[in-house]
Amino acid sequence: MEFEVLQKDLLGRIGRLKTKRGIVETPTLLPVINPNQIILTPEEIKKCGAEMLITNAYIIYKSRDLRKKAREKGVHELLETDMPVMTDSGSYQLSEYGDVEVSSEEIVRFQVEIKSDIIVPLDIPTPPDAEFQQAEMEMMISVERALEALKIAKGKDVAGVIQGSIYEELRERCASLLSQYPFSIYPIGAAVPLLEEYRFSEIVRIIMASKRALRFDAPVHLFGAGHPMFLSLAVAMGCDLFDSAAYALYARDNRYLTEYGTVYLEDLKYFPCSCPICSSYTPDELRKDEEKFKLLSMHNLYVTFEELRRVKQAIVEGSLSELIEQRVRAHPLLLNAYREFLKYSEFIEKFDSAVKSSFFYSGLESFRRPEVIFHEKKLKKMGIGGRVLITTCKDNIKKESYDYVMLVKIPFGVLPEELDESYPAGQSLAPENLYEEEKRLVLRKVLKFIKNSEGEFTFLYDPSWELEEINEIKKYAKVICSNELSDKKN
Ligand code: ZN
Repeated sequence: MEFEVLQKDLLGRIGRLKTKRGIVETPTLLPVINPNQIILTPEEIKKCGAEMLITNAYIIYKSRDLRKKAREKGVHELLETDMPVMTDSGSYQLSEYGDVEVSSEEIVRFQVEIKSDIIVPLDIPTPPDAEFQQAEMEMMISVERALEALKIAKGKDVAGVIQGSIYEELRERCASLLSQYPFSIYPIGAAVPLLEEYRFSEIVRIIMASKRALRFDAPVHLFGAGHPMFLSLAVAMGCDLFDSAAYALYARDNRYLTEYGTVYLEDLKYFPCSCPICSSYTPDELRKDEEKFKLLSMHNLYVTFEELRRVKQAIVEGSLSELIEQRVRAHPLLLNAYREFLKYSEFIEKFDSAVKSSFFYSGLESFRRPEVIFHEKKLKKMGIGGRVLITTCKDNIKKESYDYVMLVKIPFGVLPEELDESYPAGQSLAPENLYEEEKRLVLRKVLKFIKNSEGEFTFLYDPSWELEEINEIKKYAKVICSNELSDKKN
């Protein structure tokens, strides 16, 4: 299976996954289809935006009828679909019930027999709060089973599932071991319990630990994730595939998905969505409808694919950070996860696209974005020196007396006039009403720049910037308040 990256932003990308049954554009979500209980048919799921499905080979294997039919006709005919179908192995059942009545070898052979497009070995999804030793042992068993599956399913597409519980060291080691072999995709397993408890920042850590050890162009699947509120951030970390039964599980509990969280149907007076369901029903009508479960499942899928399209458009525009910064404000634990993600900015910057549309400042987090690091590197390369003016004032500057004129720019620090047109700092927008805390942070960046550069600096500021940090700058530069200049004129 080939994977081609077409466009990227942060670690997120739009890609083409070439399966034997056609090309799937990523990022995408594989809706989970339970062959025992079809809530939405594959055709209905396709209408909501799906390009690929996932079903559970273990459930099929356990039922004598389904097993026979799948063996004779293949999984696609069993589900009546022409979409590519990935099959899971029963790991989920293993995590739920502690045991399954099949070996990894058997279930892998079975997936080959039923012509699955992506085969998953029976990995062990270690729960988040397991001891390190248990997580390590189970991770090693998962790796052995993955390698065994590669041998059994020779020439077929096999997933190498990354395990290791919440231990970054184990996730990284597991990813590094698996990446030495030709797996077609690399799912990150056992994220569901963390997602259910909103432990988003731990998910950030395990994804980033795994990504560090994988090839950049290896397709990554975040198992069991599919809530629209987390998709933009997950894509930004380089996850290409998602799968989820959430659309149906949530619908069963009358839960309505939105891109900013989950709402109970009974609490809705108006629908904040224009999908075919929400434009045909009022919440009250939907509550009373016999097909409520099915219709709610459809809305849940529509809204998920709508968010994925929004994420893809953001990648095209180079505005994925801006989208994430809107999304993470929906819940403090998402914001927490975004702050965790920004700890990896140095790493992300290396892979990030250098040209994007514009940089919108949206709060303190923007100070730590990879684009800011990119700007700092650009500055360093310019080797600025000689007589340098740094100023918060745009007018009344006698530029001739200086080799360089630099503007103070939030959140970047200093912006040389030469870069005034170029991304990111030259194409950034921030509110003019800056808080004192924000000004202080920028002044500290100015100070750091002056300290680390060779040259003769003049710092010109307008009185609204009169803060303690100015005293510190005085030690390294000639400092003038714009008041003094106008006084002299008068
Ligand atoms: Zn809707």
